[in-house]
Amino acid sequence: MSDRVTALVTGASRGIGAGVAQALVAAGFYVVGTATSEPGSEQISAALGDDGFGLVLKLQDSENIAGAFSQIKDRVAMPLVLVNNAGITKDNLLLRMSDAEWSEVIDTNLNGAFRVTKPILRGMLKARWGRVINMGSVVGRMGNPGQANYVASKAGLEGFTRSLALEVASRGITVNAVAPGFIATDMTDSLTLEQSAMMMERIPLGRMGNVQEVAATVAFLASENAGYITGQTLQVNGGLHFV
Ligand code: NAP
Repeated sequence: MSDRVTALVTGASRGIGAGVAQALVAAGFYVVGTATSEPGSEQISAALGDDGFGLVLKLQDSENIAGAFSQIKDRVAMPLVLVNNAGITKDNLLLRMSDAEWSEVIDTNLNGAFRVTKPILRGMLKARWGRVINMGSVVGRMGNPGQANYVASKAGLEGFTRSLALEVASRGITVNAVAPGFIATDMTDSLTLEQSAMMMERIPLGRMGNVQEVAATVAFLASENAGYITGQTLQVNGGLHFV
């Protein structure tokens, strides 16, 4: 069993989560990363080597989450750092949005964070130390046409962040969110050229962000030096939005 502090990163098979997993390893944590499939989980284990392993975890499935936690318990100390990173989009204008498109996004991005955070929090309370970092999005504050479901989930996560921060502050646990802007990953690959060009025009720094820039922000929030920051949302958006 590793003597390093365990960090759990959901959605670590690719994109921002994979970068966060690497940044946390570099910061000295032992990292458990999750994917929705066995091949994804194996790929995480291969990428982490001696510094962690991958697991299958499906945010919409409480039983699967309980199974994943018992696997973690069997192999390492329960995580004192949790990065609720995994998220999905199912874009549509509201008038065309199906119940399934609405529910799936809220259930994965928002309810999923609740399902993972609650059981992990017990270990942090016992240790009287912990870090919860939720992956929001700049659109959680800006709004975005065609993404009412996604934006509601991300704005909800920010409210969740603030409330939980107040509940656990006295126990040495900080709870923050990181709100990325437009970051080059599979999620943004699905945008049309026209959508990308329109977005780029609105970004004062004139470029997309990269995964490392978001990952470094998460690693900072997980560090001792960030111990006096809680209930906040750090924006990593190239100046796209300020409040
Ligand atoms: P991505 O490349 O699409 O990766 C999504 C990750 O989430 C994958 O590891 C995926 O696992 C996992 N995942 C998907 N559905 C899941 C489920 N039901 N249960 C558990 N895990 C699930 O996404 P990304 O761009 O890196 O985004 C990561 C986070 O940053 C998300 O919360 C997203 O909303 C947020 N964000 C991204 C951007 C951006 O510009 N990219 C901007 C703002 C916010 P599999 O590989 O197994 O599918």
